Amino acid sequence: MHKIDIELVEMTLDVMKYVIGRVSATEHKIGKPRKSEELKAAVGETITEKGVGGEYAFNLWKEHLATANVPVDHPRNLAFVPASPTKAAIMFDLITSASSIHGAYWMEGAGGIFCENEAMKWMVSLTGLPEGAFGVFTSGGTAANLSAIVTAREHWRENPEYQREKGLIITSIGAHSSVKAMAKVADVDIVMVDSEEHLTGEALKEAIATLTAHQRKCLFAVVATGGTTNAGIIDDLESVSKVCEDENLWFHVDAAYGGGALVADSVRHLFNGIEKADSITIDPHKWMFSPYDCGAVIYKNMELAKNAHSQQGSYLEIFKDEGAHGFNPTDYQIQLTRRVRGLPLWFSLATHGTDRYKEAVERGLELAQIAGRLIEAHPNLELVREPSLSCVLYRRIGWQPEDYTHWTYENHEKGFALVTPTKWKNGDTYETCSRFCFINPDTTENDIAMILETMI
Ligand SMILES: *Cc1c(COP(=O)(O)O)cnc(C)c1O
Repeated sequence: MHKIDIELVEMTLDVMKYVIGRVSATEHKIGKPRKSEELKAAVGETITEKGVGGEYAFNLWKEHLATANVPVDHPRNLAFVPASPTKAAIMFDLITSASSIHGAYWMEGAGGIFCENEAMKWMVSLTGLPEGAFGVFTSGGTAANLSAIVTAREHWRENPEYQREKGLIITSIGAHSSVKAMAKVADVDIVMVDSEEHLTGEALKEAIATLTAHQRKCLFAVVATGGTTNAGIIDDLESVSKVCEDENLWFHVDAAYGGGALVADSVRHLFNGIEKADSITIDPHKWMFSPYDCGAVIYKNMELAKNAHSQQGSYLEIFKDEGAHGFNPTDYQIQLTRRVRGLPLWFSLATHGTDRYKEAVERGLELAQIAGRLIEAHPNLELVREPSLSCVLYRRIGWQPEDYTHWTYENHEKGFALVTPTKWKNGDTYETCSRFCFINPDTTENDIAMILETMI
């Protein structure tokens, strides 16, 4: 018989107790960052030759460190793109950790990868991509965008004429910063259509017309956005897809934030044309209620991704053997060793059913509409533009940029809310305004009203 390790049992119980407290807490303050020196002064030396002990370290975490984070699931955290992982997903994230699954190859991770693939089938079905399309979970939208663009570029370079050329992609200024960042990593040039409103086929055609002959030769892909991070704007995917088809360009849709809304009947039509994409990015850790980190890249043609990403090495050959036959996630994105990070999503979907996902996303959309009405009814507030998906940009009449910053810090300092300012490009000028992004279905109308009341 195994001797029961009392210390291990105690630590497990302590951790579970903490986790239960954390996920069931309804009213807690939004944490705030502290300076590294302050944290160091509070906790002292923790990495020592003998160790300080689990109980001691855990107490330091509870007392000093946990509160120096700003959890994204607080109902009044409406900054950037917040998140709200389901409790089922969080619980299975613990299982994922406890199971030590190497998620690169079927040979080692068949059970976990099977579950990931069941969740992925549902995600792919939301896109309307044709038979044969499939995807793989990544660490996030940045890794997904990079994996997709490298696939596109490698495919383009199969033509010997382009082998020595640096590629070029077109996107719009509404695209997420990671598109520019990954273009740098992949060493491709980028041309930006200068409008934050939705990109149309017409605007894309005009941008292509301004390219030099050499630039046109090097243009291989277009990145459209399915829900801009700043304002929730969905590009005109239908007309952009037509131009891509006519011009023989890879059509990537970055729906890292907005992709969750594919499940919502009320806005699904706004994504028409996404089914023509060559690749799509969706972040389950944004609007599919998964814990960090979980992104996904989906391809129309998986073989092209495999050609670009499959790693070769004598130590890896065993994985390609007959006995290990199955889906190898490593072949379709930039990472080798990987967590089966789609596993929490699978368990949550299996637990709740897809209808609950539909309802939770519809609630986020509804909250944006509610916020819009409250803003319009408020004498000092105005919408900068109509709410789009779950993003609301609005101004406090008469405020200067520093007023927004001050207001943000004040509410954050109190542990009350986190709502951050942004800029909106209007013609040639940028206006600083305030922005809500709703994800958490537990945010209430009262939460929004209370936040707006502080904008006196
Ligand atoms: C958040 C976001 C990304 C980056 O995703 P990460 O998961 O943060 O790497 C890319 N594109 C869009 C549209 C996003 O909203």
